[in-house]
Amino acid sequence: LPEQEAFDIEYWLLEEAKLQRMPKPKSLAGRIAIVTGGAGGIGMATAERYLAEGACAVLADIDAEALAQATEALVQRYGRDMVRSVQMNVTSEEAVAAAYADMAVEFGGVDIVVSNAGIASSAKVEDTTLELWNKNMSILSTGYFLVAREAFRVLKAQGIGGSMVFVASKNGLAASPGASAYCTAKASEIHLARCLALEGAPEGIRVNVVNPDAVLRGSKIWTGEWLDQRAATYGTDKDGLEQMYRDRSLLKRSVLPEDIAEACYFFAADTSAKSTGNILNVDAGNVQAFTR
Ligand code: NAD
Repeated sequence: LPEQEAFDIEYWLLEEAKLQRMPKPKSLAGRIAIVTGGAGGIGMATAERYLAEGACAVLADIDAEALAQATEALVQRYGRDMVRSVQMNVTSEEAVAAAYADMAVEFGGVDIVVSNAGIASSAKVEDTTLELWNKNMSILSTGYFLVAREAFRVLKAQGIGGSMVFVASKNGLAASPGASAYCTAKASEIHLARCLALEGAPEGIRVNVVNPDAVLRGSKIWTGEWLDQRAATYGTDKDGLEQMYRDRSLLKRSVLPEDIAEACYFFAADTSAKSTGNILNVDAGNVQAFTR
């Protein structure tokens, strides 16, 4: 090579090496995220994923004790300035509106909304009381609507777009034995997300869905009554259920809260800037295994 050209290449390589060593800016730096059900397994893992990328996170949950514990754990890791919590019931219009109002005061607004607060229930249709049916509809279907309605009001007023992620369920697409109320409510969440993707697009508000398959580890759902009922349906215990879900998936892997958090991160970050109205199943291939 001519001397000048060799010098230029060496100089360029040195500059490249310097760039590689520079700390990369965090992809969610300056963003504000609220995660409903933030004191639960998937919600807390998602909030933590956002915090690791530089976002501020607000955990919203009905369970005061779990909320205090989860918030303190994240404060220890990411600092008091980055984490807030708000105790709220997603079925209350007033509480949901107040949570966004608090965020406006504390952080100046919101950019990312994860609707995730939920329950699980199990009963054959002939045993499903109206109370159980309404509970599923109220927390899942209506709760997701209320959180989204307020998000849209705030995001449209801010005028800088935003991202909503609905943590629905594989059961919103595929039926599951003895859980018609839950499956129907989860299906409505998915369809609500599609409707909102249409409404939000002109304003740069994206709405996407993450569908977990069974996440047994870290989830409070997989304790108590739901666990007993599911275990009884399949004649096994918690470990047996986890193995069953693992074995019947294409990838033969258990799904963890961190796997769902990763998908929620993708839909919150600018790398998914051209995705809206989409559904990402994080199920180790379980839905596909059933529909082959
Ligand atoms: P989890 O029980 O660990 O967390 C759910 C959180 O939601 C809890 O902290 C709970 O207090 C909160 N919550 C419940 N009702 C509320 C209300 N009315 N208002 C505010 N907060 C409320 O469960 P998880 O596994 O982390 O579930 C998170 C979401 O993922 C739920 O919507 C669930 O249906 C969905 N999901 C979970 C699984 C799974 O197997 N774990 C599978 C598919 C879908």
